[in-house]
Amino acid sequence: MIYKRSSALFAEAEKVIPGGVNSPVRAFKGVGGTPIFVKEAKGAYLYDEDGNRLIDYINSWGPMILGHAHKPVVDAVIEKAKKGTSFGMPTEIETQIADLAVSMVPNIEKIRFVNSGTEACMSAVRLARGFSGKDKIIKFAGCYHGHSDSFLIQAGSGASTFGTPNSPGVTKGTAKDTLLARYNDLENVAELIEANKHEIACIIIEPVAGNMGCIPPKKGFLEGLRTLCDANDILLIFDEVMTGFRLSKGGAQELYGITADIVCFGKVIGGGLPVGAFAARNEIMNHLAPLGPVYQAGTLSGNPLAMAAGLAMLAELNSDAEVFNRLAEKTAYLNEGIARVLNENGIVHTINRVGSMISVHFDEGEVIDFDTAAKGNNDTFKTFFHGLLEEGVYIAPSAFETWFITDALTYEDLDFTINAIAKVSKRL
Ligand SMILES: *Cc1c(COP(=O)(O)O)cnc(C)c1O
Repeated sequence: MIYKRSSALFAEAEKVIPGGVNSPVRAFKGVGGTPIFVKEAKGAYLYDEDGNRLIDYINSWGPMILGHAHKPVVDAVIEKAKKGTSFGMPTEIETQIADLAVSMVPNIEKIRFVNSGTEACMSAVRLARGFSGKDKIIKFAGCYHGHSDSFLIQAGSGASTFGTPNSPGVTKGTAKDTLLARYNDLENVAELIEANKHEIACIIIEPVAGNMGCIPPKKGFLEGLRTLCDANDILLIFDEVMTGFRLSKGGAQELYGITADIVCFGKVIGGGLPVGAFAARNEIMNHLAPLGPVYQAGTLSGNPLAMAAGLAMLAELNSDAEVFNRLAEKTAYLNEGIARVLNENGIVHTINRVGSMISVHFDEGEVIDFDTAAKGNNDTFKTFFHGLLEEGVYIAPSAFETWFITDALTYEDLDFTINAIAKVSKRL
């Protein structure tokens, strides 16, 4: 394939945008080469600036769950735009989407809209701290909750239970309040709680991890966290920015039957516009300004275009009883196909899948946490990625990402993808 125009556009972008991109993973650092510039997209396909057509398995990192340029969403945005794009005053549509979200998701009574998943998680943690009067939080290695300071933390050295900053600019002061646990390791969490008795405000987790590839919670893990939280007066925050409105109408809470105290949303909830949200029962949400003392605000929060896109998306998902089953079936079909052709070609691999989240790890043995995810063979992944690109299949340019399946994919597209993987497997 030819990427002449993409390469030229990237060179121009690099002059005026750090690394040529507005979010690092887009720069292809994990796989080498130069990023592809999108011209337009429709349904399951991307069309790049050189005229190549790619089957898209990223879908804007999740939001385009029904495919690109989905008509009801696009129409809703166009109609709204004609009436003014921002007021900084209340609008009826904010209540409409809030009503719908509260009706779809279990255990939430009020929801506050923000502009990104990062903001949602950052605000949820502030609310948990304000509500509980405690400072420390527990997060899991390999889980991503956006780029706010409290979350850019890596495991501390030696016996220290404190995290250390994993980006310059994050202070040691911030890092000392974030404790890092191993995903799927309840005992590790219990130890951290024991060592920091009465100091932990919340545990924040991706109920299905999606930012170290896809890693399902082991049986009993989420239940165990719920029990530990109840016993120690700790709030459980489900970061459902990826899983919300993807794994089921009610997200992972509904899928696993676990109650979270605060839930974070992003990605699908905005239908492709910049939206995040966090939600909880009244007792907790009433602590937020202007009702309560915990401050949180946003000039463009609840923006009418964003709400129109989100409302149209949620309404589509809510009215289609079969959509989540269909997504899961397509993803299962892809899973079986990939496993078959990789096995036929003797490629060592592990595939993890929950609903329409799936990832292929080039290592044997179960992938259950950050350490096992990090063992995957990155050279194999690079060849795999570039090979698929040549075949017209676009997966995330990093071995640590989930593939996001869209309902716009047909079984023909899936077969095309499986065949492409078969061809590429011969070169791995
Ligand atoms: C994408 C993501 C975020 C961050 O959302 P942004 O909109 O990129 O700020 C937070 N948590 C999870 C689980 C995510 O997948």
